Amino acid sequence: YMKVLLEYVWIDAYQNLRSKIKILNSEKNNLELEDISEWNYDGSSTGQAEGHESDIIIRPVRLFTNPFHNVYYKGIGLGYLVLCQTFDKDNKIHPTNKRIGCVEIYEKCKEYDFWFGMEQEYIIVDKSGLPYKWERPDRVFNSDSYCSVGGDRCYGREISEEHLHKCLEAGISICGTNAEVMTSQWEYQIGAVDALEVSDHLWMSRYIMNKVTEKYECSVTFLPKPFADYAGSGLHTNVSTKEMREEGGLEHIYKACEKLRLTHKKHIDLYGEGNNNRLTGKNETCSYEEYKYGVRNRGCSIRIPLSVYNDKKGYLEDRRPGSNADPYVITSLLMESIVFQKL
Ligand code: ADP
Ligand code: MN
Ligand code: MN
Ligand code: MN
Repeated sequence: YMKVLLEYVWIDAYQNLRSKIKILNSEKNNLELEDISEWNYDGSSTGQAEGHESDIIIRPVRLFTNPFHNVYYKGIGLGYLVLCQTFDKDNKIHPTNKRIGCVEIYEKCKEYDFWFGMEQEYIIVDKSGLPYKWERPDRVFNSDSYCSVGGDRCYGREISEEHLHKCLEAGISICGTNAEVMTSQWEYQIGAVDALEVSDHLWMSRYIMNKVTEKYECSVTFLPKPFADYAGSGLHTNVSTKEMREEGGLEHIYKACEKLRLTHKKHIDLYGEGNNNRLTGKNETCSYEEYKYGVRNRGCSIRIPLSVYNDKKGYLEDRRPGSNADPYVITSLLMESIVFQKL
């Protein structure tokens, strides 16, 4: 037998990630999803069950190479990160499990060949809750930090880049990173891939981020507006259908923008806890009470990038989602509105 390390990861009731490790005796070296059994945990400690019958079932849905345990030694095989979804004791989809709904809409919209790219922003904070490595009140919280370099203004690159390397090692479709406007605020992008892949990969990338911070005496916050007077964090979601990417695509992009006007409230209500504190109309946002789209304009709900406008095809950027939103919910809503909303 070969010993294989399986790190099961799931989403709790508060949209935090949890995990536990199991060692599998396996005859095979390279495992597939079918080789990995379901497992369970105590839902009363994760906000997902009450009383004595508190078992929650976790079912594996996607495997990643484990960048935290990737060594072969003394009979220990390759490790995996195992992304799971949750079911209650009666085997019903747990209400906090939004993946199943996403799969349903994904199947219905397959012919549209949706692609998504998500920009995950976050702020690194130290143990006291202040921006990581922030020491000088005269040099903080301002745009000096955006895409910056230099130890006097750029804090947390060791975390951003370790995260990048670990995601690449895991096989996550990460496609870039940059320092953001606020001190110790960063972003990375996942995509462009289909709805299930972007969502699964984004959740696992958040897990990897949380785990990386453990080494550095800090943590990250995905709250959309943790510091009231400064830039918040979003989860800009770039989306396209096959039609939008082909000749004449711009017309389909405008049509989608008009449909999204009609479903604005439905989206806003599900775009992340506390996100309305971020969508104030300041700091490159559009107020949550308004819906606007435009070319190049970062004060809009939906932005059509200039390059897309010039090429007359491509994608649109939904700037409304907050950094803590559930990607299964965002992609579900976008597919549903763009395909099924009538004009
Ligand atoms: P911004 O200018 O808003 O900061 P970024 O470069 O951070 O843009 O992110 C752009 C995102 O758009 C990336 O995640 C990328 O994968 C995604 N993207 C690019 N082309 C498409 C497309 N055709 N459909 C969907 N997403 C796309
Ligand atoms: Mn970006
Ligand atoms: Mn950004
Ligand atoms: Mn953006």
